Amino acid sequence: MDKEKKYFYILTLSVIIELFLVLVILFISSNFLIYSDFSLLKNINESVFINAKHFIYISFILEFILFISAITVIWIITRYKNIFFGKNFEDIAMTDSLTGLYNRRYFDSFYENIFDQASRYGTIFSLIMCDIDHFKKINDTYGHDKGDLVLKEVAKILKNNMRKSDIASRYGGEEFIVVLPQTGLSKSLDVARKIKTLISKISIKDTGKITISIGVISYSKEFEDKSKDFLKKVDELLYEAKNRGRNRIMSVDTNNENIEVSENPWVDD
Ligand code: GH3
Ligand code: MG
Ligand code: MG
Repeated sequence: MDKEKKYFYILTLSVIIELFLVLVILFISSNFLIYSDFSLLKNINESVFINAKHFIYISFILEFILFISAITVIWIITRYKNIFFGKNFEDIAMTDSLTGLYNRRYFDSFYENIFDQASRYGTIFSLIMCDIDHFKKINDTYGHDKGDLVLKEVAKILKNNMRKSDIASRYGGEEFIVVLPQTGLSKSLDVARKIKTLISKISIKDTGKITISIGVISYSKEFEDKSKDFLKKVDELLYEAKNRGRNRIMSVDTNNENIEVSENPWVDD
């Protein structure tokens, strides 16, 4: 939880406690004034006593209204906290609202940038492109909401297993792309394997096993100034993974031949 949110929750809690305590004190004191035989009350003039009673009643009602309003405001802020915290318009324009990952638009500009750097300075970076297998069937069988839940779970795995410098984006409906700056093929394949394993372990009621097909590629000189070709290549690898029967990872070997990346024994299912 970031600092801002922590302060907000502490503040909220203290407002609730404070209002609740005032409410309790008012409630007790109003009952006290109404029912007590306290000698002081017997001595005061009847009309003053009535006024005091009315005053207590009115403040009791006002405090109650205040309490309800405060709870409502807190509920609204909590419900729409994305609008209040951190999610300024710039963030909203960059992120996909369902998954919280970067969106296609952000990916496109980031990709061009990192590709230019690689072309110009020879820096390395890799791409992992993945697509959920038979996702349409999940939607058709269990409903769109269940499909959305699967997308969120997949996105969570991507987010939680990336370095801070890696950029995971929702590339299309059930297609995701990860840019791994300063990362070579071998390390990227490890990441891809890990993602694949974790996704196969997603457990959502009814849906059965979720699998994913993946293409992985690393920048090499042959793609210099050909950013579209590089992207097309990783897309090709992904679709070869689909054609070979899905639930697998495709990449290239040192001769640039497409290869299926066999699983490590510890990750295979
Ligand atoms: P394959 O294994 O070949 O990838 O098959 P598939 O069924 O996953 O692929 P296909 O492209 O046929 O279907 C993708 C489906 O994803 C179709 C579309 O309705 C669904 N989809 C796209 N965006 C969303 C979304 O935001 N939420 C949900 N629930 N479904 C979505
Ligand atoms: Mg799919
Ligand atoms: Mg697709």
